[in-house]
Amino acid sequence: MVLLEEPIKSQVNLRNYVNGEWVEAETNVWRKIVNPATLKVIGKVPISGIRDLDKAVEAAAEAYPEWRKTPPVTRARYLYRLKNLMEEKFEELSRICVMEHGKVIDEARGETRRAIENVEVASGIPSLMMGYNLEDIAKDIDEYVIRQPLGVFACIAPFNFPLMVPFWFMPYAVATGNTYIIKPSPWTPISQTKIMELIDEVGFPPGVVNMIHGDAEVVNAILKHPRISGVSFVGSTPIGRDIIYKEAASHGKRVQAQCGAKNFIVVMPDTVVDQTVSSIITSFFGSTGQRCLSGANLVIVDEDGYFHKNMLEKIVDSARRIRIGYGLDEATQMGPMQSEDRKKRVVSYIEKGIEEGARLMLDGRDASIIGGYPENCFIGATIFDEVSPDMTIAKDEIFGPVMSVIRSRSLDEAIAMINKSNFGNAAAIFTSNGKMAKKFQYEVECGNIGVNIGIAAPMAFFPFSGMKDSFFGDLHGQGLEAVRFFTESKVVIQRWF
Ligand code: NAD
Repeated sequence: MVLLEEPIKSQVNLRNYVNGEWVEAETNVWRKIVNPATLKVIGKVPISGIRDLDKAVEAAAEAYPEWRKTPPVTRARYLYRLKNLMEEKFEELSRICVMEHGKVIDEARGETRRAIENVEVASGIPSLMMGYNLEDIAKDIDEYVIRQPLGVFACIAPFNFPLMVPFWFMPYAVATGNTYIIKPSPWTPISQTKIMELIDEVGFPPGVVNMIHGDAEVVNAILKHPRISGVSFVGSTPIGRDIIYKEAASHGKRVQAQCGAKNFIVVMPDTVVDQTVSSIITSFFGSTGQRCLSGANLVIVDEDGYFHKNMLEKIVDSARRIRIGYGLDEATQMGPMQSEDRKKRVVSYIEKGIEEGARLMLDGRDASIIGGYPENCFIGATIFDEVSPDMTIAKDEIFGPVMSVIRSRSLDEAIAMINKSNFGNAAAIFTSNGKMAKKFQYEVECGNIGVNIGIAAPMAFFPFSGMKDSFFGDLHGQGLEAVRFFTESKVVIQRWF
């Protein structure tokens, strides 16, 4: 076992970044940040209050008039510099992400790469933000549309992609001329703090990008603040639907709330078995199941039961061999859950599955961990067979490495099952039949669809979609939809005398 060097050598006490400066939060409330693999405390995060947020909003509002007048091509140049610095620090950023989250290094590198890709896409803002026009809409009259920024926006981020998620929004917000406040998850706030060091080095004008650490108190203040024009939230459905969307909308803000998931993966009997098995393993157990695009319910379509049995044997065999350990060991394939509480939640769902009569084929509670790390946050891949769609483990978002296998007799039955779910984040089909694939993507009520792909993660120039209880709002993060979210259309009619 060879461990990559840890970039965090001693405990870091985090500060907020406001108006181009590092400032102490006005609070006595701090939380420990723990490396879930080693259980070492790697830092402390302040739980800021309303006064801290007010200062950030004031700075962002003050920076806005000059920033919106800055030519888009100049604004893009700040992003080029940020991209270059992120490339330079690529490995350090990725390793910090492993240390605070627990995911394995290659997953963290993928996350850093997608964050950079969003900066690259947003750098094309001079073209992306263009309006359109039509001459001679009446005699001597032309009409055109221009897109303008709105002011101050904020992002409320989840724990599971601490580095990438704010990049679905922030690069587009500032490229279009808005100013910004990021509120990272208090569980995983270090990666974003490191990013803010790079923002500082780029030399964005003070107040253009700010960061406030904290939790519910700061979030509630964001939702009500009269000078904040809009909010991008990524997190669980109860918070996104019942607090963020309702509260922000009732205060007249633009809001996009990307929420929880329970994703179905459908396997047809004509699929290419070996490639399907390996994609399924990555989909369900990658990031220890803590991805909003992770597979959760595996629906095997099969009439006589033979294909189901064969697929399941291969999947269980592969899942049993996943190497579990510290993500900074490059041989590790699955890291720990991000916290002990998250692991306890997964264990309670395993108990629930047994209680409700599902058949436990692989028990992650028995998994062995390589490297002698404390077991507190670790759990292995878990597979239940004979799950019915009305069982709790098939309905609730578990957000851990638990696969529920459901048998289905036809694709129609599988699609009906998916469309009955409250969630609509992602779904995938594995098949060699183009007609089946087309039927699936046409009929299924989900925002991100995979065809022979187990994690349907949209590239930065496509929207990160979602439907039903997985999304509240109108426009998603990333690409052109983000540009639309952060701009207002103005229509000008001009008469020539
Ligand atoms: P969470 O809802 O617990 O927290 C998200 C954010 O909300 C954090 O910044 C947190 O500080 C804040 N928050 C928490 N409780 C709050 C409260 N009572 N009032 C106001 N703000 C509060 O989510 P999480 O556990 O950090 O992230 C995991 C969830 O995110 C999962 O449900 C996952 O599916 C979802 N997720 C969705 C997407 C997507 O694009 N749809 C992407 C990633 C994660």
